[in-house]
Amino acid sequence: MRAVARDVAFFVEHLKGQVADISFELAGRARALAGETGGRSVAIVVGEGARALAGQVACDVAVCVDTPEVARYNPLAYAGAVAAVARAREPFALLFGNTSQGLDLAPAVAAALERPLLAYCREVRVEGEKVVGVSQVYGGKVMVEAEAPAGAVVTLMAGAYPADAGRGAPGAVEEAAAAVDAARVRFKALIEPEAADVDITKQDVLVSIGRGIQSQDNIQLAVELAEALGGAVSASRPIIDAGWLPKARQVGKSGQTVKPKAYLAFGISGAPEHLEGMRDAGLIIAVNTDPKAPIFDVAHYGVVADLFDIMPALTEKVKAAAG
Ligand code: FAD
Repeated sequence: MRAVARDVAFFVEHLKGQVADISFELAGRARALAGETGGRSVAIVVGEGARALAGQVACDVAVCVDTPEVARYNPLAYAGAVAAVARAREPFALLFGNTSQGLDLAPAVAAALERPLLAYCREVRVEGEKVVGVSQVYGGKVMVEAEAPAGAVVTLMAGAYPADAGRGAPGAVEEAAAAVDAARVRFKALIEPEAADVDITKQDVLVSIGRGIQSQDNIQLAVELAEALGGAVSASRPIIDAGWLPKARQVGKSGQTVKPKAYLAFGISGAPEHLEGMRDAGLIIAVNTDPKAPIFDVAHYGVVADLFDIMPALTEKVKAAAG
């Protein structure tokens, strides 16, 4: 078995000069794990302005690769650069976000390093000389604990660890000039997603509606409740697929991961793909006519009732309480 160092490294994702929240989550977890391995937490920052981006991330060391080949996102070049840094440092574990970019890079890096990959993890721990990951499979229906030898590459789901622990500054910054062959892939353009009217990931309160809302006209009831609570309306996928709300309002596997202080789910069954996007909300209140609806398994409070009775009554109560 190849020897590894004690450091725990992580890849820093960024877009348009902003470090992604997931990277702060990784930074916090890497620091905690490095405390256990007796090594340092090492941020790997690739791309134009890497040094400035690294300045926001709490870690012992930030290794920056800022060469012309990696100025813009290019999966081959980025995977090559991260693999080169990892090869030089042989970290005990190398963390990526389980995001589209992380899923693009982590398998390529693991293959290049000939290291095992633990993907879709909601938890990662160190046990002796092993890296242990708890992965969410079948859309969250089953959790699988797997262990890999030190040196493993891990992808962590968004929301698995708090982001605040990873905000800060690096203890030291180093530059690395990784030679990468990126000629087969060329960055052509960044296609922006359709502009969101509301960022549901930044709301403290979400009034979320599912197929139980029955028609587009009824969404107004949810809008009124959300306004009374000072929140926004989000939805399960069928509401988006029906074209009743924009895609940016979708919660779940193929939508957004949200973590509001309060998530009110009306007429949402609680399919694994939906739960994946909201199960970490601070307080979950579900209203559903079906007492067996799986949403009740994750809800802190559940009401078996018709949402058309509850929603307008709640709006009135909230308005009355607010004076
Ligand atoms: P349903 O499952 O039809 O549930 C409607 C609920 O409303 C029922 O529980 C019913 O009892 C209740 N109800 C009906 N009338 C009332 C009433 N008057 N009052 C109160 N309750 C009532 N889904 C997502 O949400 N987000 C995703 O990102 C997502 N991604 C997916 C990705 C993949 C690859 C796949 C395969 C699926 C994905 N899905 C996603 C779809 C998911 O599997 C479910 O089909 C979907 O979440 C169901 O939405 P729903 O709960 O609104 O509808």
